[in-house]
Amino acid sequence: MSELQSILKNKSKSKITKFSELRPKQFPKTSINMEMQNSKSGFCKDHPGEFRTYFCFDCVDNLICSECVIHGIHHNHNVLTTKKAIPRIKTKLEEIKIALDSSLSKVKENFKELDVYKKKIADDSQISKQKVREIFDSIKELLNSKQSDLLLGIDFQFDQNLKYHDSMLQNLNKKFDELKRNYEVISQTISSSDVVILF
Ligand SMILES: [Zn+2]
Ligand SMILES: [Zn+2]
Repeated sequence: MSELQSILKNKSKSKITKFSELRPKQFPKTSINMEMQNSKSGFCKDHPGEFRTYFCFDCVDNLICSECVIHGIHHNHNVLTTKKAIPRIKTKLEEIKIALDSSLSKVKENFKELDVYKKKIADDSQISKQKVREIFDSIKELLNSKQSDLLLGIDFQFDQNLKYHDSMLQNLNKKFDELKRNYEVISQTISSSDVVILF
């Protein structure tokens, strides 16, 4: 059973057909109306001499003759004369057309929504990049400030150490001068003839 026939059959039983079942590729490629009009002058391939004057809503090969309906493979199928079937098919095709119009409108809405979505993700991307730049700028600023503090600290520590060094050097010079003076006194005393000076 073709998709269209299935749809038409379901419609005739007042069932609701989902739009997903109405795929365009499943629509008949030739005009059913034209085919049915041609059938008035066409003969059944299974029953030579019999005109194809019925439409079977259950089968793919849907233009059939009365013999097909009474004795053939379409016995007990959902059939109508082509004259009666045409208005029903037209009605169903109109319903399909309306459903297609509705779906086209929805697809157009989806296009618009996609455009909006594209703009939103582009905006979000720019905002995120700006936030990352700001965060890294503040981190860099903080690091620069910390670097300056650390360098100043090292300079201060160097000054302190240099002062300590100078102070130690000064003390050492004093000690050296004192020792040198004592050394000279002792040397002079040793070389002196007046030994009493030793006591
Ligand atoms: Zn036939
Ligand atoms: Zn049939």
